[in-house]
Amino acid sequence: MFDGLTGRLGDIFDRLRRRGALTEEDVGAALREVRVALLEADVALPVVKSFINGVKEKAVGQEVLRSITPGQMVIKIVHDHLVEMLGEQNEGINLNAEAPVPVLMLGLQGSGKTTSTAKIARLLKTREKKKVLMASLDTRRPAAQEQLRVLGEQVDVATLPIVPGEDPVTIAQRAMRVGRLEGYDVVMLDTAGRLAIDEELMDEVVRIRDVTKPVESLLVVDAMTGQDAVTVATNFNDKVGVTGIVMTRIDGDARGGAALSMRQITGRPIKLLGTGEKIDALEAFHPDRIAGRILG
Ligand code: GDP
Repeated sequence: MFDGLTGRLGDIFDRLRRRGALTEEDVGAALREVRVALLEADVALPVVKSFINGVKEKAVGQEVLRSITPGQMVIKIVHDHLVEMLGEQNEGINLNAEAPVPVLMLGLQGSGKTTSTAKIARLLKTREKKKVLMASLDTRRPAAQEQLRVLGEQVDVATLPIVPGEDPVTIAQRAMRVGRLEGYDVVMLDTAGRLAIDEELMDEVVRIRDVTKPVESLLVVDAMTGQDAVTVATNFNDKVGVTGIVMTRIDGDARGGAALSMRQITGRPIKLLGTGEKIDALEAFHPDRIAGRILG
């Protein structure tokens, strides 16, 4: 992810650095190029606009233009604005509630939701020493519950025993009951996905939310779907309420616009990144590291 953007910005900034003295026009020209690079990376237009305006305001000040290394200062301003746009700092998974803490996993089919559920469970178990129970509420796709069970074995995390014919809300209630009775710290509820957002899906998820009262509702989106990922997040957030985003497939050749637009458009932070198919391919989202990665 970000390869194209990193290359483009690298070229623009190399030229800026080499110029030595800078005029307001030089900065303006460079920022026009940055604007195009961001749009080509699929960053949402309103996000690009406010980003460029913010950078311009700071970067054409006399202090910057008269400094010994104005190019360097402009790049620093771009870096700081990127960090601000991405949300300043990493927001971890919030487990601040009475155990068992319900964590709802949301997302479209194929987004990487079930894989991410197991990745997060593994992380909570190994890093935070939490006792985690996972439950699949996907009664539509016959293999879904079995898929989570297999992943659970792989990461050595318990899964709720499968009861054929049970409906999603009942499974969720049973998961919370088992969580309480058996002393689990966290209960992860993997909801059913759909190919696209539909009313039925939203109604089901809302009913599950209302009976479990999740502390975290994590939406899993595929970075490869670009701006659609942002639209999906806006929809889920409006209808169900989302507390954080897990963005998967950042190991692919996604242009990165979804990651850069997500925070500002949805108001919700990206908390985690899926970096591959392997079960340990998950990283925390650190705005400063991502900005560093983009600026090379
Ligand atoms: P779900 O339908 O949303 O539950 O999706 P799954 O968890 O079954 O994942 C669908 C496919 O995407 C599987 O083959 C996963 O291995 C793969 N996948 C999930 N996350 C990532 C990721 O971060 N990177 C890559 N490359 N593949 C992923």
